[in-house]
Amino acid sequence: MIIAETISEVREQVRAWRADGLTVGLVPTMGALHEGHASLVTAAAAQCDRVVASVFVNPTQFAAGEDLESYPRDFEHDCQILSAKGCDMVFHPSVGEMYPDGFATYVNLESEMTAQLCGKSRPSHFRGVCTVVSKLFNIVTPDRAYFGQKDAQQLAVIKQMVRDLGFGIEIVGCPTVREEDGLAKSSRNTYLSAEERSAARVLYSSITAAQEMIAASDDEVPADEVLELMRSVVSAEPAAKIDYIEAVDSISLMPVEYVKKGTLIALAVYIGKTRLIDNFTV
Ligand code: AMP
Repeated sequence: MIIAETISEVREQVRAWRADGLTVGLVPTMGALHEGHASLVTAAAAQCDRVVASVFVNPTQFAAGEDLESYPRDFEHDCQILSAKGCDMVFHPSVGEMYPDGFATYVNLESEMTAQLCGKSRPSHFRGVCTVVSKLFNIVTPDRAYFGQKDAQQLAVIKQMVRDLGFGIEIVGCPTVREEDGLAKSSRNTYLSAEERSAARVLYSSITAAQEMIAASDDEVPADEVLELMRSVVSAEPAAKIDYIEAVDSISLMPVEYVKKGTLIALAVYIGKTRLIDNFTV
């Protein structure tokens, strides 16, 4: 597996692959990789001749006071996982390589989409995500790029951005990989103490309770009823504090009154100081 730290190395390698008629898949990550990330690489390797993964903790998607400094980093372990899953090149740039002195161009999705869900408590987050992902798309010029459904708002925002800016890249959404007890795998799960880890199961418990309620009804269920049930499940856990639990359209991300096919039910919950997200689409 090639380890590239500069934009020019990536460009040169991708150019050589393209000259051989090979297709390229991109898996953007912030490192601290787990089976969720690995599943994206596996999907990319199955559909593309060559796979590039990026490992970059992107400062512009963190607000002041968030966990940029403490975000887990273990590049050697990341490389072991990536190479085992069939990644051909990992792009591991410095902050200066991605944001050179005088950097001033940002990609901002100016719609309600980025103000919903996580956008309410993280108003500058998606500007940072869209900027770094655009830059990665321009550097790697992949045929396809792979993102997890665990970050459902991010996936919807990236799809809209690709449509708006005509990137011509197929965006592939991959299912959420979970721990045995249902907790969605996340690099931030490492922040949880043993008691918090146990309390964190409440996110998935609220999801399964909602899914049971929806499955038991022949009609469309009012969103309020589903959300109320989920709130009561999460609130029963003393260590949990709800940031949001909402039902929205999975493409526009605008709130819906009734839960139906295509409804995204998403939640963000603090377990202690750690903010965890999860979701499911009906
Ligand atoms: P991150 O490193 O957290 O920025 O995530 C990089 C990519 O991995 C994003 O597209 C995430 O949605 C995806 N991802 C993170 N956790 C999971 C998971 N548990 N299952 C599937 N994909 C995931």
